[in-house]
Amino acid sequence: MDKMSLAALLFPNVTDAPEELEVRFPQRNAPEGAVITRMAPSPTGFVHLGNLVQGLVSERMAHQSGGVLFLRVEDTDAKREVAGAVEVLIETLKHYGIHFDEGATIDGDSGNYGPYRQRQRKDIYHVYAKKLVEEGFAYPCFCTEEELAQMRQVQEARKVNFGYYGEYAIWRDRSLEEIQAALEKDMPWVLRFRSTGSIANKFKYQDLVKGELTITENDIDQVLLKSDGIPTYHFAHAVDDHLMRTTHVVRGDEWLPSLPFHIQLFKALGFKLPKYVHIGPLMKMDGASKRKLSKRKDPELALTYYKAEGFPVSAVYEYIMTLLNSNYEDWRKANPTEDSNSFKFSPKKLNPAGSLFDYAKLCDVSKNEIARMSALQVYEEVLAYAKEFDSQFANALEADPAYAQAILAIGRGGKKPRKDIATWKEVKPYMGFFYDAFFAQLDPWPERFDKATIAAALEQFKRVYDENDDAVLWFEKVKAVTESMGFTSNMKAYKADPTAWPGSVADVSTFIRIAVTGKVNSPDLYTVMQLLGKERVLARLNCTIAALQR
Ligand code: GLU
Repeated sequence: MDKMSLAALLFPNVTDAPEELEVRFPQRNAPEGAVITRMAPSPTGFVHLGNLVQGLVSERMAHQSGGVLFLRVEDTDAKREVAGAVEVLIETLKHYGIHFDEGATIDGDSGNYGPYRQRQRKDIYHVYAKKLVEEGFAYPCFCTEEELAQMRQVQEARKVNFGYYGEYAIWRDRSLEEIQAALEKDMPWVLRFRSTGSIANKFKYQDLVKGELTITENDIDQVLLKSDGIPTYHFAHAVDDHLMRTTHVVRGDEWLPSLPFHIQLFKALGFKLPKYVHIGPLMKMDGASKRKLSKRKDPELALTYYKAEGFPVSAVYEYIMTLLNSNYEDWRKANPTEDSNSFKFSPKKLNPAGSLFDYAKLCDVSKNEIARMSALQVYEEVLAYAKEFDSQFANALEADPAYAQAILAIGRGGKKPRKDIATWKEVKPYMGFFYDAFFAQLDPWPERFDKATIAAALEQFKRVYDENDDAVLWFEKVKAVTESMGFTSNMKAYKADPTAWPGSVADVSTFIRIAVTGKVNSPDLYTVMQLLGKERVLARLNCTIAALQR
């Protein structure tokens, strides 16, 4: 077979030579050990936690080593593409602080190794496709869907492996004339790789996350170009990662079964194989067993979920770091205010089997993260969230920023800051009672007490309440009310024998707390009342007493 003629026949329009592309996309001028890597998502419109995990691993590896992170849009599957998906992808990753040094941008490309959208690189792939044909590594296959389906049935009946290989690779050794005749009939064709591998052969491969793997050679003549001339992922990634001078490929381990083929392909193309970092899936506990997070079952897989719930970006980031590197949490404890970029991230610490996503743990990390923020920071973040998801609350916050910040300052700072907020969504239920528009009695009165008793205690407190009292005097007055009700202020004695008194100072505090906040739990009651101010406190006490007496 005259391979040069075949190549010319298949790719009459390719005039560039690979050597020219090698010159056009030169080796990068990167420092020794610098990681050049990329995110290469497909624009399906759904950005998930797995994308963020992969993004963070790539970002850390690149930037920690003084390397480059770029964004390549893998849009070869036009059927799966959703309008606007690239924008969503870029915006979402930006929101989570993934900074690309080059690559696809909303309105084009930035960088010298583009285009960074695969559909715009068709000509480049064809240069290498032609070269593979010239060297005997690739050939056209004119099989129809029906023929392939039939072949599958035969393989099933014979109980042999599925796929286009060996005797089933029926176009592998056709003559130039046969191919020419098929082309003249305008029969659609795909370009296939001519595999020389055998499943009888195994070899070792070192993956940066999975460690040493024993790999079986690939014997399938995989498709390189589809019938529309668009490459498959396999071929496109080989050409792109070579020409974009990628040193490390960070990707999901669903690509591991294709690795033997990729290794073969890089070799046939004469490319240096990049290092692979195959990340395990995100799992969650479902009852007693683990399973992969699923798009259908788990809303928490979508990144939009975290925004709508109001998790601070920094909390999601912190949580993913704890998920990926087990020593991150201890590092954070020892360095609470340090920039996370100074943590030494290592892909080797990733769990090869995948990470276990734990929602409760995320909330915990988020509470700590929010507890570390200043009242002003919290105010700004909550306001931004409310503007998007709750305009009524946003208006209230904006009407008096000093009041809102003073509320958010309660219990903040110091050695043991309060940790009651995990998401911005929780802020309104937490502090809404400070605003008359959102105030309501959310918790019921303790059942042990009749309404008359509660009303009497509140009435007495109302008479002695003075907004100018300090915290000590304020509490003395609460105790005085307690005693006058025949309750006790001695909590120790009460706990030892709760039957000796009808109630305690804790119960009286609860009455006041429910009356002024509507809830049994709130930040420090004295501080709350100081902030609410005399007028609001008295109005609420009066209103509550009247309701109890009705
Ligand atoms: N487009 C592929 C995917 O979304 C990229 C895999 C890779 O990073 O090489 O799975």
